[in-house]
Amino acid sequence: MNTIPFNKTYYTGEEIDFISETLKIGKTSGNGKFSKLCQEFFEKKYGFGKTLLTTSCTDALEICAMLAEVGPGDEVIIPSYTFVSSALPFIRQGATVVFADSYDHNPNIDADKIEELITEKTKAIVVVHYAGIACNMDKVMEIANKHGLVVIEDAAQAIDSYYSSKNGSRKPLGSIGHLAAFSFHETKNIVSGEGGLLAVNDEKYFRRSEILWEKGTNRAEFFRGAVNKYGWVDTGSSFLASDVTAAYLWAQLQKLDEIQQKRKEIWEAYDKELRSLENLQVELPELPDYAMQNGHLYYIVAKSLEHRTDIINRLKEAGISSAFHYLSLHKSEFYKDKYRGADLHNADKFTDCLLRLPLFYEMTMEDVKRIVSSGGFNK
Ligand SMILES: *Cc1c(COP(=O)(O)O)cnc(C)c1O
Repeated sequence: MNTIPFNKTYYTGEEIDFISETLKIGKTSGNGKFSKLCQEFFEKKYGFGKTLLTTSCTDALEICAMLAEVGPGDEVIIPSYTFVSSALPFIRQGATVVFADSYDHNPNIDADKIEELITEKTKAIVVVHYAGIACNMDKVMEIANKHGLVVIEDAAQAIDSYYSSKNGSRKPLGSIGHLAAFSFHETKNIVSGEGGLLAVNDEKYFRRSEILWEKGTNRAEFFRGAVNKYGWVDTGSSFLASDVTAAYLWAQLQKLDEIQQKRKEIWEAYDKELRSLENLQVELPELPDYAMQNGHLYYIVAKSLEHRTDIINRLKEAGISSAFHYLSLHKSEFYKDKYRGADLHNADKFTDCLLRLPLFYEMTMEDVKRIVSSGGFNK
């Protein structure tokens, strides 16, 4: 019996050709040919105001925290059920993180409970589109506008996901908040080993984003011919991805539609197979009317930690790997002694009970059937 891994990176085959091309051109540092091609692609396809390729999503979020100018004495609202990178850049800026709970049946930030967390010190809200499933962005933007807050979308998992607004418009995730960050880590839909993208939607941040990205210099403006010399003008770091990384990403982007279609088919197959089980004992992903997901990941929610362990073990016996993740950040070793807020029951529930099933491009429908029949999801 063959085993089914949790994830397997898909290579289109063209990566090596584009990477060779950067070596031949002889410009492998950042902001080169392939970086520009990728950035133009994202701006055109998704309507982001301005994009910058970064070495990771974490780095893109670092730039967001700097652009939002949060510091000591400021508060930033962030869901607790997320990866550390959603919070870390704000903590490094010296801001206080205020952790928010998830919905009862959806790991995303509960938009109805955001307003009660706002104080005079609140400066920003970070939303995380878990599994590429949109947060309630109409509500989040309404609250943010009312209180004058910056909205940052951690769209690490959300490339090519959409949000259907109350006014009927369909918007790509990452194009709604003032700022957004995507990941091309090898576990995401579109990959470059490590890699990320900053999307800047509010024009007021365009110039400064480029400076922070280029080590606090106005070098990008200089290369565009907008100024005749460049120098040190601000803070920042070396956040640019190398053009080798960009060449890798460019190969993946040529196959974006195929990759997305296949992943969505696998997601749909899981959903259909699981929903047709009699006596189903686990919760399945809840897709709000406003959310169009991107096949990033399929998860189930067990009834308890023990129940989840039983499922993991049954899958393991059948040669199938699964994965859980995110210990609520307010309970992490780093943060638990600093946490002063209320209990976050839903974040705790997803910490104990959520399980991710394998989902990767080369999976077959037979694999999905085998996983669904091996997990004992109705036990
Ligand atoms: C993967 C991920 C990140 C981090 O992305 P990197 O590119 O590895 O920095 C951040 N937030 C979420 C929600 C993620 O899933």
